[in-house]
Amino acid sequence: MIKLNRKPKPKILIQNEKTWSSNLMAAIASHGGYSKIPKEKKEPLINHYKHKDIKSNLFESSRQKCAFCETKPGESGNIEVEHFAPKAIYPNLTFEWSNFLPCCRKCNGSKLDHDTVQEPIINPYNVDPEDFFDYQDIRITAKNNNAIGKLTIDTCGLNSVRLMEPRAKILISLNSYSQSLEDAITNYKNADTAAKKTIRKRKIAESLEIIEKFTQPTEVFSGYCKFYLKTCEPFNMAKKIIEE
Ligand SMILES: [Zn+2]
Repeated sequence: MIKLNRKPKPKILIQNEKTWSSNLMAAIASHGGYSKIPKEKKEPLINHYKHKDIKSNLFESSRQKCAFCETKPGESGNIEVEHFAPKAIYPNLTFEWSNFLPCCRKCNGSKLDHDTVQEPIINPYNVDPEDFFDYQDIRITAKNNNAIGKLTIDTCGLNSVRLMEPRAKILISLNSYSQSLEDAITNYKNADTAAKKTIRKRKIAESLEIIEKFTQPTEVFSGYCKFYLKTCEPFNMAKKIIEE
C-alpha cells in the first residue's frame, strides 16, 4: 500500500451529487431503510457512482491499481469503485467523492460492509501507509504491532496467497537485481584506472535505475519494493557511490 493523492472532484459529481443523493434518501425514507428498497429500484438510484468520468478520475489517482493491495486489477477488468464507509450503512455517503477508493474485486469482497467509521482501517488517501506497515519476507505486517494496521491487513486479506505469490516472485527478482548491483560495486572497487572507475560507476547507475523502477508508483507492489530497498545493503551502498 502506498500514499495516494485524491484528484479534484469530477464535474459530473459536482453537478449531480445533490440530486442523486436526495433521490436515494427519499427512497430510503419511503421504503423504511436502505436494505428495504427493492433491488430493481435501488440499482438505478445508486449506480451513478460508477459513471465513467468518476471511475477514470479515481483510477488515474492510483495508476489503475487497487488502493489496498496494489495489484492492477484493470488488466483483468476487475477494478471497482469502493465506498470506504459502506453505502449500506452510510447511504448518505453513496455519492461522496472523499468516500471513493479504487479497489480490486478481491479486496472489495474481503472488506465487504466492514464499518470503517466504528472500526477504522487505513485509508491511503488520508494517511501514509508507510507509517503503519512493514514487511517480513513476503508478508505485510503492522509496524510496531499497531492496531489499525493489523485490522487493515485482516479486513482486506492482505496476506492471502493471491498476494503472497506475486510478492515472492518480485522478491526473487529484487534479490537477483541486488546481486547484480553487488557485482557492479565489486568491479567498481577493483577498478585500477580513473577511466575504468568512470565506466564502472556508470554501470552501477544503470543497475540502480533498473532496481529503482520497482518502486515507482505506477508499478504493482511498489510499497513492498520500497521497503525491501530501504534495508538492501548493495542498494544503499550503490546510492552512496553514485552521490560521491
Ligand atoms: Zn486489492
